[in-house]
Amino acid sequence: MNTFNALVVREAEEGNPKSAAASIEQLSDADLPVYDGDDAVVVDIDYSSLNYKDGMALTGKGRIIRSFPMVPGIDLAGTVVSSESDRFAAGDGVILTGWAVGERFWGGYTQRQRVKADWLVARPSGMSSEQAMGIGTAGLTSMLCVLGLEAGGVTPSDGPIVVTGAAGGVGSVAIAILAKLGFDVTAVTGRPEEHDYLASLGATAFLTRDEMSEAPKPLEAETWAGAVDAVGSTMLAKIIAQTKYQGVVTACGLAGGVDLPSTVMPFILRGVRLQGIDSVMAPLADREAAWARLATDLPGDMLAAMTQIVPMSSLPEQGEAIMAGQTRGRLVVDPSA
Ligand code: NDP
Repeated sequence: MNTFNALVVREAEEGNPKSAAASIEQLSDADLPVYDGDDAVVVDIDYSSLNYKDGMALTGKGRIIRSFPMVPGIDLAGTVVSSESDRFAAGDGVILTGWAVGERFWGGYTQRQRVKADWLVARPSGMSSEQAMGIGTAGLTSMLCVLGLEAGGVTPSDGPIVVTGAAGGVGSVAIAILAKLGFDVTAVTGRPEEHDYLASLGATAFLTRDEMSEAPKPLEAETWAGAVDAVGSTMLAKIIAQTKYQGVVTACGLAGGVDLPSTVMPFILRGVRLQGIDSVMAPLADREAAWARLATDLPGDMLAAMTQIVPMSSLPEQGEAIMAGQTRGRLVVDPSA
């Protein structure tokens, strides 16, 4: 490949991020970043994906992009073209999520990228690039939440798990994994029209976004053995107030806000555990464990049902859509289209 397509975000006026705009450009290998002192790997990218953070980057919200020009895209999956690292050789299937790629370092919205070997995990055997990006950062985060519940000792016999932002990427993958593992899953969604979809993934009960956004009392009826929360703010506070004795709440998102209007009562009277989840800087061993579990515990038909492939050229519109909470499940990005 002498030249290839990439989505590049440039500032029209230097030093003014508000003037930044994205367009598809033709690049060559000479345009790709170099990483002096680190083993670099060149990857031909099959697919990337669209996450909430990508939506923020594409729409300029939250100052996600830290240097310009930038190739956004916090995920990529593809095949190694060349490698300076002993861990990878030409032809290997690899996945990259996080590490501030698509924020500080050039990311996945391109047909080819040069990245640091330390950022890559081997694609599990039997998992395609398309499936890996159907999972992506959102799905990896869902699995890290499930692992957090397990580490806290939560089992299906302890009671139901509540999943918020249910029809989004993190929520959809979490529901499918938890249902496969035998948990009873309640989905919180602002979109009642998605109940059939969420039931098909394994949700057995539903709550509305509105009822779960009401300010909670310090302690409410003990309901949940655990939670996967992608929303934050009042909804997270309500879930904490409703969590059973020694239950575990995994908090990974901020779709509803960054505040947490809670009290200490659930922690000191019920021993509730609040487990923060970060996928961006998660150590390699945690990532490899999560990807291995994703290969076995996320049913392929469920992943296919929640995944839609979109062309890279549609990303500006798709970025607006995910920020408006209008996308369902996971969007896989085809950089060749
Ligand atoms: P999506 O946009 O796919 O899903 C978010 C969902 O949250 C929406 O589909 C919607 O679900 C719900 N939602 C949207 N707006 C609001 C609102 N104002 N109040 C309440 N609910 C709302 O995003 P992702 O699944 O990719 O990411 C979800 C969250 O997790 C984001 O905040 C993201 O930043 C965070 N995240 C964190 C990671 C980490 O490492 N900690 C990694 C990946 C994501 P519904 O319509 O069903 O209500």
